[in-house]
Amino acid sequence: MKLTHLPSEFQKALPILQKIRLAGYEAYFVGGSVRDALLNRPIHDVDIATSSYPEEIKQIFKRTVDIGIEHGTVLVLEDDGEYEITTFRTEEVYVDYRRPSQVNFVRSLDEDLKRRDFTVNAFALDQDGEVIDHFGGLSDLEDKILRAVGEPQERFSEDALRILRGLRFLASLDFRLEERTFSAMKSHAYLLEKISVERSFIELDKLLLAPFWKKGLHTFVKCEAYRYLPQLQDKASALLAMTEEMELPSFDSSTQAWAALLLQMNCQHPKDFLKAWKTSSHFQKEVTAIMTIYKTRLVQSVDRRLLYQYGRNLVYLAERLRKAKGLSVDYESIDTIYLQLPIYDKREIVVNGADLIKQIGLRPGPSLGQHLSAVELAIVDGDLANDQHSILEFVRRRQDE
Ligand code: ATP
Ligand code: MG
Repeated sequence: MKLTHLPSEFQKALPILQKIRLAGYEAYFVGGSVRDALLNRPIHDVDIATSSYPEEIKQIFKRTVDIGIEHGTVLVLEDDGEYEITTFRTEEVYVDYRRPSQVNFVRSLDEDLKRRDFTVNAFALDQDGEVIDHFGGLSDLEDKILRAVGEPQERFSEDALRILRGLRFLASLDFRLEERTFSAMKSHAYLLEKISVERSFIELDKLLLAPFWKKGLHTFVKCEAYRYLPQLQDKASALLAMTEEMELPSFDSSTQAWAALLLQMNCQHPKDFLKAWKTSSHFQKEVTAIMTIYKTRLVQSVDRRLLYQYGRNLVYLAERLRKAKGLSVDYESIDTIYLQLPIYDKREIVVNGADLIKQIGLRPGPSLGQHLSAVELAIVDGDLANDQHSILEFVRRRQDE
């Protein structure tokens, strides 16, 4: 099969293929970009596979970066583009169910395509737009089927991360799983315990952010992958309920998606949950903030303090979760109240602790902090003007109380 019109991303990268070929080696576009081009979806990173070895690639191109030379990958900087060029390889023995113990560089494209995870990820595209399809990927694309390359049992026991990759491809492509591939996912799901949490997080996160996340999450439960991932062991019903109870075409951010998940599970210790998934403290903070806003909104309307404390963006993210749950929303108030806030940060207050010490003779210590917090809240509430005279008066009055 021939692609009649090469997307511009490939056209731009054609000179790279040509240079490698001129040097006497084979080179093809491979991976997700070929799949996405065939599906008429937008393309990101164009990956190139070649019969030349990394050292040979480095001789062909002037500007290169060793980004994973032991796996055969060299980054080539050409014109204003960046291209990952990877030597054809096989991955032989998987000692820990996760990473190949040895990567062998080979000169055969066929060998390279065999080690890839799914038929629709195992295409190669040559410089003339010819699609090389050794595993029936084109007909699977047509039928919207996700199928492991080769023997599914073997493929998931070599690398269990492929189970989560498969689920996130279902969620992004709206495909269905071929039966034997599904059975093998289920029978090998226990191996997910051996996968690093960080890598599992990346895949589950991509699944949640994909447009068909409900489908992905549903199959995530059906193949029992959740049983072998942190903090999710007994959460099947909450996960399924999430797919049934939330009317949301897609999440706006990772933090919003994980907040929705934790709210659905009625998680009492979200920080512990997120730590078990080894997320950053910034991520944890944002997820728990969205959860707190959501819970606050169950008992009160949007007000100045909520917007001041969390900012408009997080309040919006929580409000969209309300909408997904069929609760009333009030985007207008969010905008109006936010724009009318007298300050957005305490550093905007014209008087600081040192001023209070100097001008009123307060002493450093807890009571100084309490005065400052009271000033901050009174300004946010609109009960106190943010000018020196008013603030000093306000603190003097508090002192007398
Ligand atoms: P995306 O569009 O999200 O980038 P992708 O298919 O390009 O999806 P990548 O993680 O970028 O996925 O990997 C590029 C290609 O490398 C895949 O299409 C697949 O052929 C191969 N690949 C990646 N990870 C694995 C794996 N764990 N096992 C087998 N093949 C893999
Ligand atoms: Mg990719």
